[in-house]
Amino acid sequence: MPAPTSSTAGAAPATRPGEGLRDRHGRTATDLRVSLTDRCNLRCTYCMPEAGLPWLPKPTLLTDEEVSRLVAIAVRDLGVREVRFTGGEPLLRPGLTDIVAAAAGLQPRPELSLTTNAIGLERLAGPLAAAGLDRVNVSLDTLRADTFKELAKRDRLEATLRGIAGAAEAGLAPVKINTVLMRGVNDAEAPDLLRFALEHGYQLRFIEQMPLDAAGVWRREEMVTAAEILDALRGEFDLVPDPAHRGSAPAETWLVDGGPAKVGVIGSVTRPFCGDCDRTRLTADGQVRNCLFARGETDLRGLLRSGGTDAEVAGLWREAMWGKLPGHGIDDPAFLQPARPMSAIGG
Ligand code: SAM
Ligand code: SF4
Repeated sequence: MPAPTSSTAGAAPATRPGEGLRDRHGRTATDLRVSLTDRCNLRCTYCMPEAGLPWLPKPTLLTDEEVSRLVAIAVRDLGVREVRFTGGEPLLRPGLTDIVAAAAGLQPRPELSLTTNAIGLERLAGPLAAAGLDRVNVSLDTLRADTFKELAKRDRLEATLRGIAGAAEAGLAPVKINTVLMRGVNDAEAPDLLRFALEHGYQLRFIEQMPLDAAGVWRREEMVTAAEILDALRGEFDLVPDPAHRGSAPAETWLVDGGPAKVGVIGSVTRPFCGDCDRTRLTADGQVRNCLFARGETDLRGLLRSGGTDAEVAGLWREAMWGKLPGHGIDDPAFLQPARPMSAIGG
């Protein structure tokens, strides 16, 4: 893992104590994504190589207390209203339930969610709900065991399905399902996945594959586009644009067969929503990223560990966000993939 670069903040930021996480393009981040680990028990090909990656060294990882302190600063001092825990696979973090409970005790209480592959969620959903978790997004790319094994390099479809059912039983509703389609691997399954979601009352969202794989082999021409996904669904379902206001949500939604069920498509590449982005990200080793595709990071861990006060940490976080670029620039010929893959950033 390359060493994180220093702050992306640039020239003197126009940020003041008490202010939220604004950037110079008029956006304010209120949605925090916290990566709790870069490790995972799957190897989804669009995310991680089969052999895994050099994991972050343990001493560089934020402790549970450090994570909770940073979440508290974000919520109390920086106007963050939603906190999503992710990874890597966040269910692998031993202190997850305590971290959720600490976040649930904050005032104002943030909305708390988890993005997970659901392996082990069957057992953990109840304790997480009791700790204050509100919702989960589960990644499910296929309903076929052989395709699961091809795509995630592990034979865990049944465990994932049990985990999803466990989340619904524990009341972590609405259960949202995230699906990435890969051409020639699972792209023919779009209608089956939607039928599955409709039958169980889950909300399905397809996500265009982004250039965040560890091998750096993403090709725009090979990506299954939002338009292709919608065409495939329209072959079997009646889709009408959802009249509900999208706000800063990345998914465009459609009512399925007259509603109320919906399906979402996150066209991160072909229909970017950067102008409405309200996210700030914290990596498992304590770096703020102002964008998934940022090339630089801002080190909060160093400041925490050298005795920085909450106000100093909040100030550095504001500076980091002030430098956020207007868009991800994937279509720019000069675009460069970030040094960290998705699993180490926190999706
Ligand atoms: N392990 C958890 C999971 O899979 O849900 C959380 C971390 S994962 C990095 C978060 C989300 O990022 C998943 O929904 C996954 O499908 C998505 N993701 C990973 N790599 C991606 C890529 N290259 N393009 C689009 N989405 C990606
Ligand atoms: Fe693991 Fe999630 Fe990446 Fe798949 S997408 S390898 S489950 S971190």
